[in-house]
Amino acid sequence: MKTMIPWRGIIEEYRKFLPAGEQTPIVSLQEGNTPLLPAPRLAETVCPGRELFLKIEGANPTGSFKDRGMTLAVSKAMEKKAKGLMCASTGNTSASAAAYAAKAGLPAYVVVPAGKIALGKLTQALMHGARVIQIEGNFDQALTIVKSLCEETAIELVNSINPFRLEGQKTAAMEVCDQLGCAPVIHALPVGNAGNITAYWRGYREYKEAGQTQGLPRMFGFQAEGAAPLVRGHVVESPQTVASAIRIGNPASWTFALQAVEESDGCLHMVSDEEIIQAYQMVASQEGIFCEPASAASIAGIYKLHRENLLPKDGTIVCTLTGHGLKDPDTGLSVSYRPVTVPATREAVAAQLTT
Ligand SMILES: *Cc1c(COP(=O)(O)O)cnc(C)c1O
Repeated sequence: MKTMIPWRGIIEEYRKFLPAGEQTPIVSLQEGNTPLLPAPRLAETVCPGRELFLKIEGANPTGSFKDRGMTLAVSKAMEKKAKGLMCASTGNTSASAAAYAAKAGLPAYVVVPAGKIALGKLTQALMHGARVIQIEGNFDQALTIVKSLCEETAIELVNSINPFRLEGQKTAAMEVCDQLGCAPVIHALPVGNAGNITAYWRGYREYKEAGQTQGLPRMFGFQAEGAAPLVRGHVVESPQTVASAIRIGNPASWTFALQAVEESDGCLHMVSDEEIIQAYQMVASQEGIFCEPASAASIAGIYKLHRENLLPKDGTIVCTLTGHGLKDPDTGLSVSYRPVTVPATREAVAAQLTT
């Protein structure tokens, strides 16, 4: 019999680096341990001559990286005996909060922009038994409301302004180092509320300081053109992009993200929806990985820098693919061809073959 070393979730695996003690009841769905997949075919187009890896965060239990932060935020909420969880969300935070609340046996309240949540994410929140409240407004307005409500109740806010979220998320950077044997030269991420780029940078630094890895990457963050407050340097009132997970006009971790980029000698750029969709289709058709549109912003950004001759000539590049493509089947269908329907005969099907 082959012995598998069981993975115990990010809190147990990286406990040394996390604020979880003996008294913390761990609420885990065994998140983390996601693949770091070499992407040589995609690299031929988006960064020829360089090594490209994809950190597949869609392989987490609820299909996005949000689970890394949620396990710690919910465990800490249990420790302080919170009566419930609440979040504002563009979708994935609510799916994750709902799942961990179910695991913990706590009620979850999620406040989302009406009609703006990808189908899979809404379905997850409902299936896990969260109370979903849709507002006639955007994410930024939802966040203002939940912040105010959580201040006055024993309900714990689990948005990324909850410090435990970023603490949990930093373990993704530590995993990349463990998988590569060192830090990459460039780490590229889509940027919405800017929590993840902040968390990765913290993770890389802490792992290096602890002597667990060598080197530090340059952090490259990419926003969508219609939702690029960090690149433009001002709040965007009504952010617009096909990439709903990064449709954010006033990022919660604004200053931390700028710091991460500056300290790491990185950069922030924006990509158009067309570039995002192109990358979304390329990674699916060339590497076999179906990610969310928002996730593809990392690849679209690297490709754009390559086309503009702004990419360093060598060194390993890691792109985080933040969420699973099945979260948003509508966008996938809308950019795909319509399958043909033919009679149920061998000849009719044979006529369709192209090889
Ligand atoms: C939350 C999310 C993002 C944005 O991450 P931030 O930490 O808000 O910058 C990107 N992609 C997906 C799929 C997400 O769920």
